[in-house]
Amino acid sequence: MNEQKTEQLLLGLEHPALTQLEHNDQTIILHQAVVQPLKQLMDASAKAGLDIHIVSSWRSFQHQASIWNRKWNGERAVLDKHSQPIDLTQLSDHEKFKSIAFWSAVPGTSRHHWGTDFDLFLQALVKKGYSVQLVPEEFAAGGPCESLECWLQENLGQFEFFRPYQTYRGGVAHEPWHISYRPVSEPLLKNVEAKSIASQLMLQDVQGKQTITAALDDYLERYVFNIDD
Ligand SMILES: [Zn+2]
Repeated sequence: MNEQKTEQLLLGLEHPALTQLEHNDQTIILHQAVVQPLKQLMDASAKAGLDIHIVSSWRSFQHQASIWNRKWNGERAVLDKHSQPIDLTQLSDHEKFKSIAFWSAVPGTSRHHWGTDFDLFLQALVKKGYSVQLVPEEFAAGGPCESLECWLQENLGQFEFFRPYQTYRGGVAHEPWHISYRPVSEPLLKNVEAKSIASQLMLQDVQGKQTITAALDDYLERYVFNIDD
């Protein structure tokens, strides 16, 4: 893939290798190189009695921007480190930026733009009408996805997936539900560049973009490059 195509992919603008995977009742949008590995992972977990529901797969820049902007404008809840809602009106723009970035990537920097990363949940719960929150408590001992958590701990590595936010490292929250296909995502991460993100933010309707671009290098170090092995 040439440099310009990689840049577009990383930013969530244009993806040259997106495809669809039909799985149970879901249509999953993802990188074509990840179809087989994801299928194998989901088949194996199904055999263990844990049918996987994909809460989130590929996501465009525009989609990420709409999540970001709704949070910035107070139209969608922003949670603190204990999964409790924060009153954003009391915060400076910089604090707001950091609070949102704990759970949601700045548009153009989400690993979900790549088609290699997925948020998982148990399908049985979704079918029963359980309202998915994606908070760590759901994957903790006694939580509804404890069985999935145990299975992932034991088996994820066999399929060359890993969990970039498995531990809290001072940037993104502990996100045990977020998995990534390493053979494709690892080389992509090496191509993430502040310059192209900053110029894209300036072109787009993204709330707080002045604040974000002023702190972009720090943000990338702390939230994007700072992941588990
Ligand atoms: Zn995710």
